[in-house]
Amino acid sequence: MLEPLRFPGGVKPAAHKEESTRTPIRIAPLPPRLIVPLRQSAAGAATPLVSVGAKVRKGELIARPEGPYGVAVHAPTSGEVSAISPHVLPHPSGLPGLCIVIEADGEDLWREREPLDPDHAPPQVLLSRILDAGIVGLGGAAFPTHVKARAKISTLVINGAECEPWITCDDLLMRERAETIVAGARILARIMGAKRLLFGIEDNKPEAACALERALGELDCGSCAVVRVPTRYPAGGEKQLVYALTGIEIPYGKLGPDFGVQCFNVGTAYAVARAILYDEPLIARVVTLAGNFEAAGNFETLIGTPIEQLLPLAGEKPDTDRLVMGGPMMGFPLPSRAAPVVKATNCILAMSPSLFPPPPPEMPCIRCGACARSCPMLLAPYELYWYAKSKNFGKAQEYHLFDCIECGCCAYVCPAHIPLVDYYRYAKSEIRAREREKAAADAARARHEFRKFREEREKQEKAARLAAKAAETRAKLALAENAASTPMPRAEDDQAALIAAAQARIESQNTEKDR
Ligand code: SF4
Ligand code: SF4
Repeated sequence: MLEPLRFPGGVKPAAHKEESTRTPIRIAPLPPRLIVPLRQSAAGAATPLVSVGAKVRKGELIARPEGPYGVAVHAPTSGEVSAISPHVLPHPSGLPGLCIVIEADGEDLWREREPLDPDHAPPQVLLSRILDAGIVGLGGAAFPTHVKARAKISTLVINGAECEPWITCDDLLMRERAETIVAGARILARIMGAKRLLFGIEDNKPEAACALERALGELDCGSCAVVRVPTRYPAGGEKQLVYALTGIEIPYGKLGPDFGVQCFNVGTAYAVARAILYDEPLIARVVTLAGNFEAAGNFETLIGTPIEQLLPLAGEKPDTDRLVMGGPMMGFPLPSRAAPVVKATNCILAMSPSLFPPPPPEMPCIRCGACARSCPMLLAPYELYWYAKSKNFGKAQEYHLFDCIECGCCAYVCPAHIPLVDYYRYAKSEIRAREREKAAADAARARHEFRKFREEREKQEKAARLAAKAAETRAKLALAENAASTPMPRAEDDQAALIAAAQARIESQNTEKDR
């Protein structure tokens, strides 16, 4: 049996998993209107392929991916496109984004589907299907799966740790649909050439671990294992889980495939299996409704479902004062209840003053070092805080600001109640904004210099053309004058010479004018 290693730092917040695991996954009803954002990946958008008034079928491609990191977007149900317009999105910025709005016809009619044989279809064909299905990492990162699955590796890690408190969508998926998760993991392993398949699960999910072991046992997979890792946040961080399972430390600036390992969430593996075995694109996912609900639980929800229509399904309590997408450690406040469920929506956490009291006021840092001891990335959070607060961003980068995975462990243990992650996010966004401004200024300078160079070159070319023309005219004039001074035997020749001389003079005058 594989013994997991202990990663540095980490904390043990109250898990609050029981509240939403008392009932099986429920199917959220089909809403009358779906609002499907075009930007569904962390790194790219999609271009609409339909126009207003178009009739669409469930699973039909409605927007094709833009660039290498864009992801395809599909109709979550059959109906009619009623608008392509900006709409509020579940994003920390609170900014609206372009969405395709579909009025559901209630029929839920699928397009034609062509399942693939997972054992015999060429890996490239399987990879193309993942791209076509618009699959992204469902652990919350929403990075395009087809990009990650391109790497060749020896060990595939499937992340079922789900360490963030309150969130249980992965736990329920593993308990109820372990065979499909294992099928998806094997497809990914086949595409990437992985010889070893490891499932990492926190030891507070024994039912899920047993379900996966049963599913693996049926396959008699000698190089596959379910590894129970101690429950400690953030065990589900990609680098932390890879270290716990393989002992591989992935330094900043490097990726798992540099060390022969790649990691996918269990929900992603499930989506891969559905895409290959049933030709189902990613149009639905399991969302945890946790926190201030009468009957918290997990709901299989169509992408594009307005969150406000989802909340009554779990009996939202009237004193809810905030909604967070994600968990209490890494989630962000929802800008509006009208925002739709997106591929990255793993949890909607309803908060109330009694369940989540407002934090005490921020106090000055006492340099106690508790934050550094809890940091799983071995950073010096108090130094990062100091340099972020004083806007000394160069120094913050020297202290590896961008190594910070924003797990929130440091803020969780800070006795001064400093919202440390807010400072890091602010510093990162400022640095990125400055880099964007610098890149735009560099591009503008390059354009200006090129325009100056082109104008100078055109001036020189024109001057050269005029000089050549003047020289030619002078030569003609000299020739004509020569001819005029030479006695001609006949009157016609005299006349011809005079005409040539006159023409040459006119040309010469025109050339001077041109100058
Ligand atoms: S835990 Fe808080 S008070 Fe202690 S050193 Fe870190 S930032 Fe300062
Ligand atoms: S939020 Fe960043 S600095 Fe704080 S503990 Fe996590 S990785 Fe370390």
